[in-house]
Parts: sequence; structure tokens; C-alpha cells
Amino acid sequence: MVETQHSVEKMYIDGEWEASLSGEFLEVVNPANNETIGSVAYGGRKEASRAIQAAENSFMNWKNLTAKERGSILEEIYNLMIQERKELAYTLTLEQGKPLKEAEGEINQAADFVKWYAEEGKRLYGNVIPQSDSDKRILTWYEPVGVTAAITPWNFPISMVTRKLAPALSAGCTVVLKPAEATPLSAIKLFELFERAGLPKGVANLVIGDPIDIGEEFLTNKTVKKISFTGSTEVGKKLYRGSADHVKRVSLELGGHAPFIVFDDADLEQAVEGVLQSKFRNAGQTCVSANRIYVQKNIVNDFTDLLIQRFQEMKMGNGLNEDTTIGPVINKSAIEKIQKQVEDAQNKNANLMLGGKPVDGEGFFFEPTILTNVTDDMLMSKEETFGPVLGVWTFDTDEEVIKRANNTDYGLASYFYTQSLKRTYQISEGLEYGIIGLNDPNPAVAQAPFGGFKESGIGREGGFYGIQEFVDVKYLSIKL
Ligand code: ADP
Repeated sequence: MVETQHSVEKMYIDGEWEASLSGEFLEVVNPANNETIGSVAYGGRKEASRAIQAAENSFMNWKNLTAKERGSILEEIYNLMIQERKELAYTLTLEQGKPLKEAEGEINQAADFVKWYAEEGKRLYGNVIPQSDSDKRILTWYEPVGVTAAITPWNFPISMVTRKLAPALSAGCTVVLKPAEATPLSAIKLFELFERAGLPKGVANLVIGDPIDIGEEFLTNKTVKKISFTGSTEVGKKLYRGSADHVKRVSLELGGHAPFIVFDDADLEQAVEGVLQSKFRNAGQTCVSANRIYVQKNIVNDFTDLLIQRFQEMKMGNGLNEDTTIGPVINKSAIEKIQKQVEDAQNKNANLMLGGKPVDGEGFFFEPTILTNVTDDMLMSKEETFGPVLGVWTFDTDEEVIKRANNTDYGLASYFYTQSLKRTYQISEGLEYGIIGLNDPNPAVAQAPFGGFKESGIGREGGFYGIQEFVDVKYLSIKL
């Protein structure tokens, strides 16, 4: 084991901050300069098992609190998140790379989930169902599913956590969180706030460590009743399969390959602004990033001119700098994946308008890139880019573009720009996607159901729908 210059940050199990049993730790780096910014305890199966036991031990007490009592603790977590917004955002930018302003936006959104679910638990109404025999009565109500394991990715290290934990806790579940290895510091900061807010011990636990080991414990330990995962489709499928043995409840928020369609009657300025926001937010590393920009052929030149003009205003750099609008990508393998797509497109006759290569230096930067004349045989058409590379495809008719937009196994987010009422209905009804932004590049909010069709996932996060993922309905039949 190598010595670390940083004090080792700990996991949070049963209300205690703990090192890993093996003493192992993980170094966390800043993707803007590849410098080590901290060290965290690195555990595995044993720590996960202890955390699950702690969650089980605290479950009945937590479940038996009223929704109002649970809600008031969530309310306190919300207040603390807002109070500590700057510090949370700084940690987030340091380990994840996104510009500070975006990081603050993420904290606000993350806090929104907590505030929403502080209230939503109170609205989990049951029903009285009309009986078919006059001497009977039928009642239903919701109960929490039990111990929940949450696995989150590095691209939104705080908001992906609260989007799962807030509804779970509000419903009366207890939780074990495993954050991504690249971004554990944000999760640690959040759990410090949980502790300060007075969340009872064992109700929320944080384990950091080997993903396969911890995932295995989540799958095989019968105490875990529910797995909520956000990440790659590949890992999501593994968890789905692995959940079958104990028929665990599963929510999966997986990859996307979002089409962004610009029709010839669109407000071009608005469409260009939208595409830049959707593509370059978080350096293109979101599962709802515009990935395939389809522009109607008769406006493609105007669109591209405007795009290039507006694009020049963007500034890549360290997220801590005030004027940065695009930060680094997460690591070296992200750079390699992006580069492969760009080279493939160029080899197949796409036009490189701007950017196109990694930036020399210690950090993980890829030049913001625009390619035109992109076609359906290119890698970019088939897989998520997850980087600051914007490709422009063209199309002729509405029927054609719907077909091409739907020609993927993914079905998370999609976008289209039009002023036409007829298109509004026809296109939104034709797109096989869980989320559609009409003239709106940023549809995700706490109260709306976020989630995908097809291989983009199962279940929804946010609003009324999100809390349903953490409850079972029980029905009582009474004979009078
Ligand atoms: P990405 O490619 O974006 O990192 P992953 O799906 O690999 O997406 O990671 C998302 C989350 O899933 C992370 O917290 C990661 O540690 C976790 N993870 C990766 N592999 C497994 C696995 N086999 N079992 C459980 N969790 C895993």
C-alpha cells in the first residue's frame, strides 16, 4: 500500500465514520489537472454487508415514523444543502470537473429533490375501493419496500444521489449508497449533512469501494429488497439479471442517445442556443445530452453558420475559473472513446468544422468539436458520445426523421424544435422516448418523471412517479 499525503476520508456506516476493514484507500483526482485531491477509504463486500445490516436494524423505527416526521428531517437536509451550497459545489467541481456555476446548479437541483420528497411522502394516499359484496370493504395503502441499495454515477455526483435517496427515505426505506469511484468526496460531504440534520443512525449508509464486490453483496444479500441504479446499460443489465434470484425490485436509469431535431419552421436562434446547452453542459457527459442533431436540409447552412458563430463564445478550462463554460471530461478512457468517434466520422467523410482532438497537458480535455455531414453509418450514430462533440446530420421529411431518431435501442431523452402545432403532436407522439423537450433543452426537474423507454431503463425518478419506486401497495379485504 502506498502512503497518502491526504487524510483518508471515511465511509458512513451505522452512524459512524469508518475506514475500510483492510485499510485500503482510493486516491481521487481532479480531471482538470490529474492532481490528487483526496483519499477515501476503499472497502468491499464486508463493509457493504455491515451497512445493509445497519439499514435493516433501523428500518422498522424509520418506517414507523410518520411521513411528517421523516419529512421534517429531509427539510433540514434541504436547508443545510442550501446553506452549504458553495462548499458542495466546490468539492463537486474539484473532483468532477464541471464549471462552478453548473455545479451550483446541480446542488440546487439536488436540493430540490430533497425538498420535493420532504412533502411528497405525506401525499402517498391509499384508497377505499368500492366493494362487490355489500358486507365487504376494500382498503389499500402503501408501505416502504425495505432496505434499498443505490448505485450512482460520476456525472452528477450529488443530484443522482438525492434523486434516489430522498424518495426512498421519504417513503420509509432505509438505504445503502455506493457512489462512483471517481466522485466519492461529494457523497461524503452530503452524508455529513445527513448526520448534522439528525438522520437516525443506520437509516442512510455510505459504502465506497470495489463496485463488483459491493454490487455482488447488494444482489445476493436477501435483506436488500430494492436496487436503484444509474449508470451504463451494460452494468444495468448485469444488475437486472442478478436481481432475479431474489426477485428484487429494480429501477434502472441507463444510457441515452438523444436525437435533437430542428425543423425548418423552428426559431433558429432558440434551437442553436438549445443545442449548445444540451450538448456542452457537463462537457457532453449526461445521459440526456443531445447526441444526434438532425437538421432539416433546407436550413442546415443557416443553422451551421449560427452554431459556429455562437460556439466561439464558449470557453474551455478548469471549472474553478470564473469564465469557464466547458470543463474537462472525466478521465483518459473518455478521451479515447471520443477520439475514436471523431476519427471514424472523419474517415467516413464528415466535415470537421471546429476542434477535433485532445488538448495536450495533464488534464483530460477534448477540444469542443463540431462535425457536419455526419451520416448513419458512423460510430457517432450508433453509440453515446459522452463528450463535447457535436455532429450534424440532415433530413428531408418528418416521417424519415422520426424513423431515424427511433432507430436505436435507447429511449431516454429526445428534443425537437418547431413552431407548428401539428408537428408538436405528430412528432411527440411518434418519438419512442420517455422524455421529450419541445423547444426545451433542459426538461429535467424534481417534479417530473425522469426515465427511459426500451434499453434506457426501468422506472422513473422524480415527482409522484419517483416515490412509487420505493413502495409496495398492500390491500386489505374486510368482511363485516
Ligand atoms: P460509467 O461507464 O459511466 O462509469 P458504470 O455503469 O460503469 O458507468 O458506473 C456507474 C456506477 O455503477 C458506478 O458507481 C460504478 O462504480 C458502478 N458499477 C460498475 N460496475 C458495477 C458492477 N459490476 N456492479 C455494481 N455496480 C457497478
